[in-house]
Amino acid sequence: MSRPIGKTLQSRILNPAIGLLLLAIPFCGAAPPPAPVEFRGAWVHYQDYVSAAAVSRTVAKAKRLGLNALLPLANHPDNLMFRSTLQPLNKKVQKGFDPLLELAKAAHAEGIEVHPYFLTLNGKLNGVGTKLAKFRMLDRAGKTSSDWLCPTHPEVRQYFVQLVTDCLYAGVDGVQLDYIRYPDDARFCYCAACRAAFKAESGMDPIAFAPQSRPTLAQLQDCRDRPGYREWSAWRRQQVTQLAKELSDAVRAKRPGTKVSAAAGTQEVDQFHVFRDGAAWLRAGLVDFLCPMMYVVDEEAFRTRAAAELLALRPQEYGSLFSGLPAYKLRGSPQRLVEHVASAREFGFGGVCLFPLEYLDESAVRALSDGPFQEPAVLPWRAAAASRPVAPQRTPEDFCRLGLVYKQTGDLERAKLSFYAALALDPKHADSLHRLAWTLAAMQPAGAAAPCFERFLAVEPEGVRADEARAALERLRQPAGAPTNPQ
Ligand SMILES: [Zn+2]
Repeated sequence: MSRPIGKTLQSRILNPAIGLLLLAIPFCGAAPPPAPVEFRGAWVHYQDYVSAAAVSRTVAKAKRLGLNALLPLANHPDNLMFRSTLQPLNKKVQKGFDPLLELAKAAHAEGIEVHPYFLTLNGKLNGVGTKLAKFRMLDRAGKTSSDWLCPTHPEVRQYFVQLVTDCLYAGVDGVQLDYIRYPDDARFCYCAACRAAFKAESGMDPIAFAPQSRPTLAQLQDCRDRPGYREWSAWRRQQVTQLAKELSDAVRAKRPGTKVSAAAGTQEVDQFHVFRDGAAWLRAGLVDFLCPMMYVVDEEAFRTRAAAELLALRPQEYGSLFSGLPAYKLRGSPQRLVEHVASAREFGFGGVCLFPLEYLDESAVRALSDGPFQEPAVLPWRAAAASRPVAPQRTPEDFCRLGLVYKQTGDLERAKLSFYAALALDPKHADSLHRLAWTLAAMQPAGAAAPCFERFLAVEPEGVRADEARAALERLRQPAGAPTNPQ
């Protein structure tokens, strides 16, 4: 028995033209809007997937939160959360239980991806420092003050290639590399292998550039472009990049489609402080995404950090950054987490990653699941290309504000670059022209500021700032004249 409506439908569909028209038009109302496209992850410590009960709790919590990815810590001192011949399984794991495999199964059943993260070169945190003791990083005196491992040794790189690829049997969706850098005191590595390899390439013994004691950031900033030291820094970056490349190649070769990421950002300071170049990895395709650890509490500081992370990237690359949010610092302040998520979205980040899941209490879970995570989100690589959000172009104000922060800390070089970034977006941005002119006037040669003052005056010919700019130009035109910044 067919109802009249069925007959009507049938007859219309028999007419190809009307049928096609009918199929193309939804029967009632508009089609639902597409799901938001966003990475929503949380880092997970071993306690939260050490047993079947812990796995169930964790996946249920992730589901309630509205997450679509979990990033469990896979290696701890001599305690793996998966099976490998290199190190034993975590002693807390019950016989017969396979934590990473079970987590992946349970998470996948809820549509959540799993990207285990690995502590790499920090040999103390991962417990491999004693196992590979002869490959530790050495300071100028040939001593090691830490268990950090030197990536120049092929044995170190091969160890991590095997360790990381060993976990792929668990059916994970990606792997993340953490501590893939030098320690943050810039006193390493002067082992025989590093000295010999650098000397063979450059003809220089890097011991000539070795600091006597831990340098400050200002000292590093000061010497980063000096001939010799500049090459030595670049060479160290290359050692870390080589490790990232070998890991990435091996993972993708063994299980094509597996995502590779790093707990790393793109700030320029990383290049001469910890010798890591996240922006270059992203651009070269060594990683699919980066999670910069933006662990600041204050919202304004968070936004400044967000702008700083974007400085080295093109707008189409912003979406490959997933902002690491400090859940551990924001216990009891769920509203601040919500604000951080909003800021990350506003700046064009492709998602967020909370550190760690265990620090999200009920109030934080509610604030996020009732707020920014209310609608389920699709992971960027699972969304149709057309529905991926286009990252908003950053505004000149963002980069101008960043430049001001750098200027206030005395970092004129980066202040200058930030103002240039603002002016690339809007060549007539008066605040940026004004601040850039005064920044250039404080640098050598001060005369380089003159055209910038002129550009500023063309945009803002009236007012106090214009009067000051004219006075500055007058002084610059006098022999050896350098204007004094009235600010
Ligand atoms: Zn070395």
